[in-house]
Amino acid sequence: MGMSEQKTTAGQGVVIDGKAVAKKLRQSIAHHVEVLVGDHKIMPGLAVVLVGDDPASQIYVANKEKMAVAAGLRSYVHRLPKNTSQDALLELLRKLNKDKKVHGILVQMPLPKQIDTATVLRVIDPAKDVDGLHIENAGRLASGLPGLVPCTPLGCLTLLRGIVPNMSGLHAVVVGRSNLVGKPMAQLLLRENCTVTIAHSRTPQLPHITRQADILVVAVGKPQLVKADWVKPGAIVLDVGINRDGGRIVGDVDFDDVRGVAGYITPVPGGVGPMTIACLLGNTVAACCRQNELTVPELR
Ligand code: NAD
Repeated sequence: MGMSEQKTTAGQGVVIDGKAVAKKLRQSIAHHVEVLVGDHKIMPGLAVVLVGDDPASQIYVANKEKMAVAAGLRSYVHRLPKNTSQDALLELLRKLNKDKKVHGILVQMPLPKQIDTATVLRVIDPAKDVDGLHIENAGRLASGLPGLVPCTPLGCLTLLRGIVPNMSGLHAVVVGRSNLVGKPMAQLLLRENCTVTIAHSRTPQLPHITRQADILVVAVGKPQLVKADWVKPGAIVLDVGINRDGGRIVGDVDFDDVRGVAGYITPVPGGVGPMTIACLLGNTVAACCRQNELTVPELR
């Protein structure tokens, strides 16, 4: 199986331990960083740009920095005030595009109102776009060309590969169609030869669609939307949602309910979340290798 998992009682889906898989992935990344430094004298660098003082964004950026440093990467965090102009941000990004020490650039979202996100994403060099949100990378993914893929769907794919190395012919249903998660997830599953259905807020009879899924990926942002009778017995359920429910963090899937019918299920927290940062580090190492004309290692 090759996937760290928790043993369960009969009739309960296997809980996918994303934390453990992510840790293993980060160790593999740290090893490749050592090789880059030792054999090639190249230190992979990740620049993260945070505009404003959104508390959740501050935590995300601090985590990214901590994990990058722990994996041996160099981290450059640029914290800009809330009232930063779009021009000032674009100027910084153009500087980072040219900076040879920086192999990956990430702008933490959301951005303040005076800044147009689409314009910002277009300015980042696609070769350094470790969030995979530049239209060139989105187009490469859709065209089956190599490029940088958004971290969360990449993390989901890594978890899936640990359970079903061959997904060919399986029916995958992705709920959510954002550029960040749903759409790239669907593209990746298509690349794995799944039959892919994308459902979203205008999909009628959603439970009828999700019940057909062998692989169900939910990226909606609605606490505990998916119930047991939405899920085919034995299905693999990946819950991307991160929702605050009082003091608690819950996913888009009603975990306790769905666990009774699913074959495999990710918890929230501790499922997809930790994979996202690990894949960001992986993307940075991949970008660094490509920029230096080195073979991109297979990270797992
Ligand atoms: P988004 O708001 O951009 O997109 C949500 C999608 O869900 C839309 O395409 C919409 O059509 C669909 N949707 C909304 N209501 C629906 C409903 N009732 N039924 C079916 N579909 C519905 O959000 P996003 O950026 O894709 O993120 C989705 C969730 O994943 C959020 O909770 C977010 O916090 C979380 N997220 C987690 C990670 C991670 O690292 N685990 C990363 C990114 C996003």
